[in-house]
Amino acid sequence: MTDKYTQLVSQGLGRNIARKLGLPQPALLRRYTPGEALISGPILIQGSTAAADQLAATLLSWDLDVRRHAVPREKLGAIILVLDELASPEDLEKPVLSVASSLRDLAPSGRFITLSRPADGSGTPSVAAARQGVDGFLRSVAKELRAGATANGILLPEGVAATSPSALAALRFFLSGRSAFVDGQFLTVSTADGQLPSDFDKPLAGKVAVVTGAARGIGAAIARTLHRDGATLVLVDIPAAGDHLAAVANEVHGTALQLDIAREDAGQRIIDHAIQRHGRLDVVVHNAGITRDKLLANMDHSRWNSVLNVNISAQLRINDALLASEHFRDSPRIVSVASTSGIAGNRGQTNYAASKAGVMGMVSATASLLSARGGTINAVAPGFIETEMTARIPFAVREVGRRLNSLQQGGQPTDVAEAIAFLASDGAGGINGAVLRVCGQNLVGA
Ligand code: NAD
Repeated sequence: MTDKYTQLVSQGLGRNIARKLGLPQPALLRRYTPGEALISGPILIQGSTAAADQLAATLLSWDLDVRRHAVPREKLGAIILVLDELASPEDLEKPVLSVASSLRDLAPSGRFITLSRPADGSGTPSVAAARQGVDGFLRSVAKELRAGATANGILLPEGVAATSPSALAALRFFLSGRSAFVDGQFLTVSTADGQLPSDFDKPLAGKVAVVTGAARGIGAAIARTLHRDGATLVLVDIPAAGDHLAAVANEVHGTALQLDIAREDAGQRIIDHAIQRHGRLDVVVHNAGITRDKLLANMDHSRWNSVLNVNISAQLRINDALLASEHFRDSPRIVSVASTSGIAGNRGQTNYAASKAGVMGMVSATASLLSARGGTINAVAPGFIETEMTARIPFAVREVGRRLNSLQQGGQPTDVAEAIAFLASDGAGGINGAVLRVCGQNLVGA
């Protein structure tokens, strides 16, 4: 549910009052429903390179309404700016200014997407400066857009084409309502691997997926989203949450496994359950997590240890079991839930931020182990998401956390779930070791 303030100021009298008083006016975001159009309104593709032409041809083959030149005052669903051949910062001016006036024509919940090359590893200082320039440019555009529109970038190393499977899968993700709360972010497509699904509304058909911490909150939303996308589910949570877990499992026609993931044998128990009940194991989503907030000056052993143990040590142990298993070898996928606290830090959360930064370190170092078996591991870092965890935050702190992002609202559990479903899909097979923030472009910290 969108928060009450956002509902109040999105229509009628509330909208007028908020406008007059200069109060934040968060938009109702466009979110994905199966079967709906990928985007409403034409897509303007700007850029003079061969990649821009190839991309336009592919989008046309998907029956999308594609424009190579702006028509003044025509409402646009999306603007895609292809910047894959920048040699110096001067090269930015022409393409960037060519889309400038079209920004005014971007529809509510419209999309601005760049395709460019990562700066690291690029040849000369001039090339690196141009490529890094796209970073600052895109993040600033995201802060200028209004009415639920977002700006995100896809990074393609040399040798990975704009029409490679994961570049196209990432483009579809950013265009669609699946990425409603992803804003101001870059996603690197590291290889030309991956395979687009035969049915874009069922990208996880035939997969068996495990979700930890699935009894409520973000975990329950992940279970519902993966089920909607075609996966068969194994839902894990602690025995004390057994009733809620059973209810979610019934809803998504999956099986429930009551298990504390901090147990030494948790990984083997998960594998055994998936194989015995469903015959295979393709996707593991490490979502279970806890907070035990205290300023470091007041931190005790139990608070520090329990958070580190559940949030990162358990994931490391489960991954060891998965990597040792003969049942996790067919293009396996791991997606871990991190947090923007692990990127920017957060007062009172030294233990939590250490654990979540640890998740990102683990993901980066595990990527090569997964790619050796045709698999991937990635992390999703949520910002402020409306759940029972954040409902416990005192009102004033909660209101600040919720509004201080470019979309001026908290995200929904389903927003995190959509990013995870995307990274778990075959289409994302060329994305490995990445961290995708789902935070509405948090203005605090990173
Ligand atoms: P939540 O507290 O509502 O749900 C967490 C679930 O994990 C619960 O069902 C709980 O029983 C389960 N769990 C806890 N310890 C477990 C264990 N040892 N074994 C098995 N299950 C266990 O939390 P949420 O808000 O849904 O958060 C889900 C994930 O998202 C967590 O990793 C959290 O750190 C992360 N996150 C949340 C937010 C947010 O704003 N809510 C922001 C950033 C990251």
